[in-house]
Amino acid sequence: MSEPDGAGQANGTLRETIDRGGLSPDRRGPTITIGEILVEIMAAERGTGFLEPLTLTGPYPSGAPAIFIDQCARLGGSAGIIATVGDDDFGRVNTDRLTRDGVDVSAVAVDPAYPTGSAFVRYRPDGSRDFVFNISKSAAARLSLDGPARALIARAGHLHIMGTAFAIPAVADMLEEALATIRANGGSVSVDPNMRKELLQHGQTAERFSRAIAAADLLLPSGNELFVAAGIDGSEEEAVAALFDRGVREIALKRGEAGATWFGADGGRVDCAGFDVPEVDPTGAGDCFGGAFVACRRLGMEPARALDYANAAGARNVTVQGPMEGAGTLAELDAFIAATRRRP
Ligand code: ATP
Ligand code: MG
Repeated sequence: MSEPDGAGQANGTLRETIDRGGLSPDRRGPTITIGEILVEIMAAERGTGFLEPLTLTGPYPSGAPAIFIDQCARLGGSAGIIATVGDDDFGRVNTDRLTRDGVDVSAVAVDPAYPTGSAFVRYRPDGSRDFVFNISKSAAARLSLDGPARALIARAGHLHIMGTAFAIPAVADMLEEALATIRANGGSVSVDPNMRKELLQHGQTAERFSRAIAAADLLLPSGNELFVAAGIDGSEEEAVAALFDRGVREIALKRGEAGATWFGADGGRVDCAGFDVPEVDPTGAGDCFGGAFVACRRLGMEPARALDYANAAGARNVTVQGPMEGAGTLAELDAFIAATRRRP
């Protein structure tokens, strides 16, 4: 994949890109993430719970880190994931999709004894969701940094961290090890704080989450997560300023159907109105937004252009049933942007 805005052919240019506050260029090595791969099986009809026979649709490839990395690769970013699936069709649904879309799955381990993780999902009439999860007793929870995982970390150029992972001590350990290695190799780091306040009650989780925030070049919070990440309850501007004081260099704030805003540590700000689309299935919007934004920035795009693609990636994904079924290529997102009105 060529680099749209010519992010650094020579070493000098490469250094300039980093000093300007950008993420490490794509050619420095893949964006990687660590976490759960799942299948999602969805109730066809809205309603409450799973207490009677239902028409179900799926399995769809899923898991927040998987959705993120799939969108990153579809957009043309180099990408890889460290995860574990079972030796079953639910695992193959995922590895086949990720492979088709260009994700390096060399560090996706196949556990011989445990099934692939799953989430049964049913939307309630008000848009909230009921779940039946099989994650903690599935292959998804049997993550470890084996040889292939360490090899992927060694060649990575960027680490993307899901904040929720800090609630699982073993995964937090792996993320911290990956973060140290990737930093030492000159790579960059993004964090999707998707962390609820309640999960931060455990002292260690809060401390590790806070360290990850301070280590991030880029934060991708959604709504209230901005304040959870900043650790303050002030205005949006105060929360943003507090995060820049801690070393963060850019923030892409997700605003659901209202679009998104980018803030730069240099005082820059870009607002992007949401696309006017019918919301068929909101699952995965935030992860597609993140995967697209990180890929675009690493491919050398300026923040405004990257934000536009990220905004389009999130919006396009909500128009399709299934958590990553709407992830778009650059050409698909260009077509979507050209054909879709923005909300006033
Ligand atoms: P998730 O539900 O996956 O956790 P999130 O809460 O992290 O998502 P959202 O703000 O819901 O993030 O969505 C991410 C981005 O996707 C938004 O900033 C916007 O660009 C786009 N998006 C999400 N929902 C819609 C919608 N209904 N219409 C248009 N764009 C949307
Ligand atoms: Mg979110």
